[in-house]
Amino acid sequence: MQLVLIGPPGAGKGTIAARLAARFGLVHLSTGDLLREASAAGTPLGEKTKAYVDAGRLVPQEILGEVVAERVRGERAFVLDGYPRTVEQAEFLAALPAVGIAGALYVAVPEGEIVRRLAARVVCASCGAVGETAVENAACPKCGGTAWEPRPDDRPETVAERYAVYMQDTAPVIDYYRDRGLLVEIDGKGDREEVWARVEAAVAALAGDDDNG
Ligand code: AMP
Repeated sequence: MQLVLIGPPGAGKGTIAARLAARFGLVHLSTGDLLREASAAGTPLGEKTKAYVDAGRLVPQEILGEVVAERVRGERAFVLDGYPRTVEQAEFLAALPAVGIAGALYVAVPEGEIVRRLAARVVCASCGAVGETAVENAACPKCGGTAWEPRPDDRPETVAERYAVYMQDTAPVIDYYRDRGLLVEIDGKGDREEVWARVEAAVAALAGDDDNG
């Protein structure tokens, strides 16, 4: 089963994608994590993209497209978290060999709740993995680091930019998948477990359809 996850910044895409991966045996591909890791490691990709990410702007598809194509190549079952973010990217993804998206999960969260959630978010200072303020002293599950800091692009002015980019460029992707009968809308309000229960039920239904089809 191949899924994409769409939602505004702070919708909980990363957390949801990680749980989907574990529950349904999918590979979790996060373009945001990939870019943050590249930037933390100082790779050529990180150097080319850091300024975009820090400013809350979209990394050009000319840079990101091939990276995504390489990651999904040969994967039968994945959840793409943070890609596609434009209609151009959605079309690029659909044209890749062996890609057949079973569903696009759209996690809908009102703007006020987003601002509150992002203000509470922290990331691992060493590898950029996303954590929660509540477990700030815990070891990072990805690299074992124990220093946490606010995610640089969660500053209020950058959040405003990311939300504007989302409304302008990513909201049309919702219609793209709706027009193709692939959109699964999830109410992203409420606490994490409530949202997860809705996501899990929706994907279990999709997985059943996938097996039968
Ligand atoms: P995220 O962790 O998904 O919020 O992504 C963090 C940042 O990475 C975004 O604000 C963009 O700068 C960049 N990014 C992630 N995914 C994409 C994408 N599909 N297209 C362009 N830029 C992206």
